[in-house]
Amino acid sequence: MPTLYIVPTPIGNLDEMTPRAIEVLKNVDVIACEDTRNSMKLLQYFDIHTRFVQYHNFNEQESSKGLLQLLEQGKNVAVISDAGYPLISDPGQVIVNKAIALGYNVVPLSGCNAMLNALVASGLITQPFTFIGFLPANQKESVKTLNLYKHYPMTLIFYEAPHRIEKMLASVLEALGDRQVCVARELTKKHEEFIRGCCSEVLEEIKGAKGEMVVVVEGFNEELKPAIDMGEITLLVEEAI
Ligand code: SAM
Repeated sequence: MPTLYIVPTPIGNLDEMTPRAIEVLKNVDVIACEDTRNSMKLLQYFDIHTRFVQYHNFNEQESSKGLLQLLEQGKNVAVISDAGYPLISDPGQVIVNKAIALGYNVVPLSGCNAMLNALVASGLITQPFTFIGFLPANQKESVKTLNLYKHYPMTLIFYEAPHRIEKMLASVLEALGDRQVCVARELTKKHEEFIRGCCSEVLEEIKGAKGEMVVVVEGFNEELKPAIDMGEITLLVEEAI
């Protein structure tokens, strides 16, 4: 039976590539890559010479047609993204859904993913949790989105780009209050770091920080009293935006 493999790749430390991932990528007929230049480096590093095609956010529909044709011809396909799991804030959803609908085998491999690394080391409650991914870039829109989760009694996990981290934490402060947060930075890499504390403290500490980041935020808890008053929150938010 033709199979579509969902293959996670390292989020930093290449030693986290699993032997099974290497084996699958060596043996499938085609690898669908988010960014071929980026994936080429990874494939070369692991001595993988399989044919690859581009499959990214802007050609998912079109590219998945070609991948389905390969599955129809009895070929095996693997989908990878630039880092971590495909489909997790990355392309992959379209081909996986189509493959399921047409009855092909869909096989996920275990492996790297930034949100779970961040969650388990955050010091915040690990269950239940909600993964939100990226908030809208626009400040007003991101506060609006955060308001949807304001009363969720579960840990919230976000992805964020380093140049937006201050604005993002300011939105969290404005919409959710001064909750406990953990910013997990440069996971699995040399300068891995976890910045934990109230949102207002972390916002101060994060200034100028670089690298990739995951933000884990405490869920709603009725017993929690705001650590600082609204005046101070407004000041911190104004400073960050
Ligand atoms: N597919 C990936 C996964 O499974 O985690 C996520 C890809 S998403 C496009 C990229 C975002 O993931 C980054 O902006 C950052 O929020 C997070 N991320 C990826 N690698 C990371 C790392 N080494 N340390 C911290 N965050 C990381």
